[in-house]
Amino acid sequence: MEPFLEPYNYYFLREQTQMLAQTHRSVNDRSTIQAVRSLAFDAIKEELSHLTQEELAAVMAIEKITDSQREVDQYLATLRTFVRPFKQPSEAGVKKAFAKTKKIQMPDWEQIDLKDYSFYAWNDMGQQSKFILYYQNNKLQGLQGNLSSEIKKGICTICHGTSGVSLFTVKGKVNKDGQYKTKGNYICYNSDECNHQLQTKEHFETFIEQIKAK
Ligand SMILES: [Zn+2]
Repeated sequence: MEPFLEPYNYYFLREQTQMLAQTHRSVNDRSTIQAVRSLAFDAIKEELSHLTQEELAAVMAIEKITDSQREVDQYLATLRTFVRPFKQPSEAGVKKAFAKTKKIQMPDWEQIDLKDYSFYAWNDMGQQSKFILYYQNNKLQGLQGNLSSEIKKGICTICHGTSGVSLFTVKGKVNKDGQYKTKGNYICYNSDECNHQLQTKEHFETFIEQIKAK
């Protein structure tokens, strides 16, 4: 089977898997376990309704999960083989995506497991910046914004998880007084963790749409 899961699908399924195993370990009442299971399976089928029958059948091996950690590990290892990695951009592609920026720290792609990333982002605190690479309609896009070095606990606008977040601001349009409008969002300071918490494409897309609308 060709890879058919996006990294965020994998992290969604990983959370469901861990939640199911935890339920089996901590709950005695069979009907409660049954209710939790069927809710999870319905959520999975809805989230992954675009898959083929064969692909969905492979994912639904999650129904075998009980309290065993070995089963969890095996299932997740199998899922991982179905993940489509973030497409590695060329150096020219990255430069083009950040055309306004002269100094770009190129990611060392060889050291990065691209199956972890729905988008790829890194901080360059020398420039007080976060650089975000993502694909829109298969085209590589870049978003650079100012990143505060002050980290606090909060909800991230991208992944909707609770983590160490920092204010990320992007220069918007020029207003009547000739000044740039800037608006900020609190997002995960660490974008690796952000990717691990991102479970649907919609959250990331909404973040991008909001920024572009500014
Ligand atoms: Zn995040």
